[in-house]
Amino acid sequence: MFWEKEIETISSSDLKKLQLIKLHHTIEKAKKSDYYKKILKKTKISTLKDIESLPFTSKQDLRDHFPYGLLAEDLTESVRLHSSSGTTGNPTVVFHTKEDIELWADLVARCMYMTGVRKHDVFQNTMGYGLFTGGLGFHYGAEKLGMLTIPVGPGNSKRQIWFMQQFSTTAVHILPSYAIHLYSSFQELSLDPKKDTRLKTAFIGAEPHTNALRVQIENLYGIKAYNSYGLSEMCGPGVAFECPQQNGMHIWEDHFYVEIIDPKTGQILPDGEEGELVLTTLKRSAMPLIRYRTRDLTRIINEPCLCGRTHRRIERIKGRSDDMLIINGVNIFPMQIEQTVMQFPGVGNNYRIEILKENHMDRINVLIEVHEEIFNGTLSKLDQLKNQIIEALKSECGVTPKVKLVEPESLPINEGKAVRVFDMRRNEEE
Ligand code: ADP
Ligand code: ZN
Repeated sequence: MFWEKEIETISSSDLKKLQLIKLHHTIEKAKKSDYYKKILKKTKISTLKDIESLPFTSKQDLRDHFPYGLLAEDLTESVRLHSSSGTTGNPTVVFHTKEDIELWADLVARCMYMTGVRKHDVFQNTMGYGLFTGGLGFHYGAEKLGMLTIPVGPGNSKRQIWFMQQFSTTAVHILPSYAIHLYSSFQELSLDPKKDTRLKTAFIGAEPHTNALRVQIENLYGIKAYNSYGLSEMCGPGVAFECPQQNGMHIWEDHFYVEIIDPKTGQILPDGEEGELVLTTLKRSAMPLIRYRTRDLTRIINEPCLCGRTHRRIERIKGRSDDMLIINGVNIFPMQIEQTVMQFPGVGNNYRIEILKENHMDRINVLIEVHEEIFNGTLSKLDQLKNQIIEALKSECGVTPKVKLVEPESLPINEGKAVRVFDMRRNEEE
């Protein structure tokens, strides 16, 4: 039931037929909302390609029509709302009917089953419950799969470990940054997760991370870690997920119509080229979205997957288009820095990027935690590592950062998605 062979290995022509039917359905539904009523008034879709004549929907559109502008069903049909953090202006809210919640849980169950977890697994959810979709989204999927589900929520590392040990947790849903932090709590308790827990699977996502960080998590815990991608506007987690091949995430094309565009021109890019992911919901009822600009940068992996699933794969998210840093005219993504820094075995669990203005020039400082033995080792070893990192960053990013190697656990962490970039330029100029 959770391995939906027919749908997961559907042929490309059958998928297109299915998508066209669902797209018609979505457009008819969306026309009921105040926002899409005018936009879609004269819309005639005869082929999937006709979608390209429709305008994009942006996060700003959701904000501007807050709170009910995109609601396509009577509010009494909605049973839940989720919301993004909304640090800048109105938050965006997303409504769900009972059917939306069911379909979302099915999707998350499909994702987890794909990686090999089963009913007998014990699942611990360390993501935030509440308005954030990471908690409840996985929770419902895990219960649907029939697993014993422990809704611990975020933080309180000692309690996390206690539950893992008491109930022999085998699978966790965890932020990659928190997985690294949690490991240090195991160390403080003189525990080794490899020997002292039954963990075998982690679902990591909700924030950009490199493959190097995933491998580090896998090695520290002796587990497999699968990349999980989602966003609240589509439902939440469950949009795209890694299969056992761990090489890109299958994006579920029976639920979402996928386009990759050039973020500057809006032009559609061919498979294989990197750009912004644009998604259209195909099954959502309460709040269908058409050509939603996710701002997430990725590309379609243009080869069939060895697992046999035919839904195309997207590469791990490079970052959001608005994460890009411009340092003295050079474009840099924070993930390039993570990838470079993590190559060095002496590098520890956390890092922080600071950008400031110095004599009208941009200056980038990278603070990096290193392992205890390196930090307390000889000065020349520490200097050597620092210079190697500077050289590597220079060649990867094209700018010369200042690098400071700091003590383990000395950089602050926050509960929830990791915040590692501190751009102080604006404040200083004001
Ligand atoms: P917010 O926009 O407030 O963070 P969401 O909780 O909906 O709201 O977060 C969705 C966003 O989180 C995605 O658009 C993406 O930028 C990021 N994200 C989610 N999963 C991943 C992942 N596996 N890898 C990288 N980024 C991710
Ligand atoms: Zn696959």
